Amino acid sequence: MSYGNKIIVIGGGYSGVKTVVHLANNKNNEITFFDKNSYHYMQTDAYELISNEKDFAQVSVDLFTLCADLGENVCFAKQEVTDINFDKKQVITTIQRYHYDYLVIAVGSRTKFVESIKGLKEYSHGVKVLNRAMYFKQKFEMSLFKKVQESGTACKPLNIVVAGAGLSGVEITAEMASFAKEFYSKNNFLCRKLNIVLVSSSEQILKGMDPYLVKKSLKRLLDLKVTIKSQTRVVSLTKESVTLSNGEVISMDFMIFAGGIEPNGLIYKLKLDKNKRNFLNINEYLQVQRYKEVFAIGDCATLYNKDKFIAPTADVAEQMAEVCSENIMNLINHRELKRHNIKSRGILIALGRGYATSRIFGVHISGYLAYCMKKVIEKIYFAKLDRHSKKGCSKIFKM
Ligand SMILES: Cc1cc2nc3c(=O)[nH]c(=O)nc-3n(C[C@H](O)[C@H](O)[C@H](O)COP(=O)(O)OP(=O)(O)OC[C@H]3O[C@@H](n4cnc5c(N)ncnc54)[C@H](O)[C@@H]3O)c2cc1C
Repeated sequence: MSYGNKIIVIGGGYSGVKTVVHLANNKNNEITFFDKNSYHYMQTDAYELISNEKDFAQVSVDLFTLCADLGENVCFAKQEVTDINFDKKQVITTIQRYHYDYLVIAVGSRTKFVESIKGLKEYSHGVKVLNRAMYFKQKFEMSLFKKVQESGTACKPLNIVVAGAGLSGVEITAEMASFAKEFYSKNNFLCRKLNIVLVSSSEQILKGMDPYLVKKSLKRLLDLKVTIKSQTRVVSLTKESVTLSNGEVISMDFMIFAGGIEPNGLIYKLKLDKNKRNFLNINEYLQVQRYKEVFAIGDCATLYNKDKFIAPTADVAEQMAEVCSENIMNLINHRELKRHNIKSRGILIALGRGYATSRIFGVHISGYLAYCMKKVIEKIYFAKLDRHSKKGCSKIFKM
């Protein structure tokens, strides 16, 4: 069946999914949607996956069933995009080439496993992809179990290192510390030595963030008995230890690396304008340079509002999706494009069970209330997609 406007969206993260949902409403749009995985992974809920509050089904949405409900004009294909020929308007996947009239690049970012840190890739974990987060979750639980087994004999401490004290590093550290504390106290186990070390390259954690959020997060981490090593960085790893730039060597059972992000592999191949860190440069309408029919949104693009850099988050990725889908419809209908005015609407930092700190529309809230707000936001986001996915699933099985 031919509908008219051939639109390709690459990447089923926060920005890609929202774009597809918006554009699917117009039945003249023929949308082909690619992701290398069959699911949308909610990275913002990774901390709950690791601490066993949620299983993997609760932090992911099946893209096949989701798209089955969006309409016949949407086709999801589980294919990795390997290149794009912008002059011929073709997307090249591991399987074949696809033509587009309009293209949205929404491939996100990945953990930057810095080559110069010896042993980093071999001995540390990232949480930006679901399979790695799952592996880490299982390893964490297994390590706690091993300590229980050691009761009555040797009880060596379990040493966890988190490198990188940005939003994801801080959330994961707090969640693990809080989970382990609850786990040991609830179960009355004798062997319960757990050391969690957070390594921060700058003097303070959450560099550049609102001082209120920094202060609250720091207090919470210290209350949870997390050791913070500041103004130092990881320089090398072995299976059992981490060496820091200040010369200190820390014992390590496992390490999470949250020390930086880079664009996903596809972006490196594209001959488009990029910044020094290889993220795509885009204009105020979210188009890449030179190709007005090509948009880049979410973590893979560098966003400025006037001259102010807007840090990449799921909230920003979703706002970009709204502007991008509106501008694709404006192009199709020969209307003037909309200039974006995207700003962070707020920040909510989960800091272990029952506690979060936040700044939403300029208002600061911490404690259980902020934690409940975070849960509600996560629930609303998931419920919308899950509704489509459930309906799509019943459509497929009735066929
Ligand atoms: C632990 C953690 C906690 C976080 N907490 C928060 C938070 O509390 N609040 C917040 O706002 N943000 C948070 N973030 C940041 C947020 O998750 C990201 O900003 C957001 O995921 C970016 O969305 P995106 O659509 O750009 O990319 P992603 O969500 O990363 O999605 C990109 C998609 O593209 C696919 N893809 C990549 N390359 C290809 C290819 N070549 N072919 C096909 N498919 C491809 C991937 O499989 C993926 O599905 C957190 C991140 C982490 C890691």
